[in-house]
Amino acid sequence: MPNSEDLRYALARIDGRGYKAYKDLRGHYAFDRFDLFIDHAQGDPFATPSRIRARVSHSVADLPDDLYNSTHRRIAMQDFLAREVRAAIARIARGHRGTGKSGLFRIDAGGQEIIERTAIVVTPDWVEARMEIGLPASGRRVLARQAEEMLFGELPQIVERSLVWRNLPQAGARAFVDCAENQEHIRNQLDGLGLVAFVADGAILPRATGASDCPLAPDKSVHFRSPESLRVTMALANPSSGSITGMGVPNGVTLIVGGGYHGKSTLLRAIERGVYAHIPGDGREYVVTSRDVVKTRAEDGRRVERVDISPFIGNLPQNRSTSEFSSDDASGSTSQAANIIEAVEVGATGLLLDEDSSATNFMVRDARMQALVHKEHEPITPFLDRVREFHDTLGVSTVMVMGGCGDYFDVADTVIMMRDYLPFDVTADAKKIAREHATRRRVETVAPLSTNAGRVPLADSFDASRGRRDVKIDAKALDLILFGSDSIDLRGVEQLVDISQTRAIGHAIHLAAGRYMNGQATLREVVTALDDLFDRDGLDALDPFGRDGEHPGSFARPRRYEIAAAINRLRTVRMRQST
Ligand code: ADP
Ligand code: MG
Repeated sequence: MPNSEDLRYALARIDGRGYKAYKDLRGHYAFDRFDLFIDHAQGDPFATPSRIRARVSHSVADLPDDLYNSTHRRIAMQDFLAREVRAAIARIARGHRGTGKSGLFRIDAGGQEIIERTAIVVTPDWVEARMEIGLPASGRRVLARQAEEMLFGELPQIVERSLVWRNLPQAGARAFVDCAENQEHIRNQLDGLGLVAFVADGAILPRATGASDCPLAPDKSVHFRSPESLRVTMALANPSSGSITGMGVPNGVTLIVGGGYHGKSTLLRAIERGVYAHIPGDGREYVVTSRDVVKTRAEDGRRVERVDISPFIGNLPQNRSTSEFSSDDASGSTSQAANIIEAVEVGATGLLLDEDSSATNFMVRDARMQALVHKEHEPITPFLDRVREFHDTLGVSTVMVMGGCGDYFDVADTVIMMRDYLPFDVTADAKKIAREHATRRRVETVAPLSTNAGRVPLADSFDASRGRRDVKIDAKALDLILFGSDSIDLRGVEQLVDISQTRAIGHAIHLAAGRYMNGQATLREVVTALDDLFDRDGLDALDPFGRDGEHPGSFARPRRYEIAAAINRLRTVRMRQST
């Protein structure tokens, strides 16, 4: 195997030559303390940066194996190390040095959530950091001296500082991994306790600003405190660390009520994000939600392909069918109906709704409106008349913010009132009021809730090619995927948190179309197959380059619900209903 001196000579040889000469450096080099893989050399200084890996054997890195000896601890440790590499880059790399991206070092580390990602890999033998670097140029000429500074000066320091245990903040690393494991441990207890979510006493739910995901300063926020009647105790992963108390949100139908600006949406939002683990200090690290909970909202303008929305929408004008409803421009209510049916189709066991982002006519129809507009002329069966059946028939719980309509008191199991940012259990009061003030409205369901076998996505409706390229897939933003010559708008998909998830979704759709969509497999089976693949082979299975030695260093794991949501929003997608 070539060593670092060979690389030094190779660099010297191409100094001043055309930029493409960097491609000669591709390969695997043994450095003193680690192995360097140059997997991909960019075509010019402005192109997507080059990809390298630094692999450190455990004999050097010396990471304690209890930090990566279970899947969840390993995922957390990898996430932690990615953050350490990013911090080391910020301290050590000089950065810009030449044309275009010259001098850049980058690693795909996370935000407030801890998610499985491909930036760091820890195996029983080694730890590897996957980075992007901008190979330096002056104009379009190779700057070998600058490249040498990066690869022989900065890189070894970055590796030393962020991948070698002796130099790492050891207590911080342990606290990080333990915290993530505790969250997972709590999540695993929810089902057995009949809970959808857990919100710890002391949690800080509000964020610093609308545009930031960081916590509001502790002295400015009201710390969460569970009502006595809903307080539960959760065991932590390591029995010697004891337990933690907080509010258990029970299965069934839960309303969050309260005056405007009293913290209702903030609580729901924390629950929505609780499907992911959070970093210590986030404030929501012990807000833990069942992994199959899906936030749904109205999303007018989205495309809908053959979804059975008949539980919610019946006799449409012009006799349009609603048991196989398609639209290129769904309305607020039909889009929300489709979002809910689609979530349940791929396995959701909990739904989250906020009145702020729901269609009013989808949520309620009161007695006076029933008197004025006869049911014959109203296609919509409001969620109010279905929400119980979702739980009682399908086992799907709902947690919803509803400050504006007390008709829901009749159908709720639990009513939580937010007042001055603190929750109160007002279930008994709400039930009493419901008895004393009958709504006089009629239940409008015409037939019991039933759902069909789901839909089969048709592989030939997925085309990732664009121009001369067979596969052109890119995440342009957290909520925008370029897929061949189409784009997928994910603005209505609120539980996507990391653009690297978005990127992974784009590639997962392409892989699934080629491998799993066989004209028989339902959408649910397709996303299950993807989950199984990721569980078995990790996200590297999505490697978009497909060539030996390259690596997908910038994927984060999406949930099946967000993958399905993207498929459902692809404007070219065709499905048939399964029989
Ligand atoms: P609602 O949905 O009840 O109208 P929001 O959840 O939108 O209210 O909260 C209103 C404002 O109060 C937001 O700016 C939010 O950041 C802030 N806020 C929410 N919860 C807290 C809290 N626990 N402590 C301090 N401020 C909070
Ligand atoms: Mg609100």
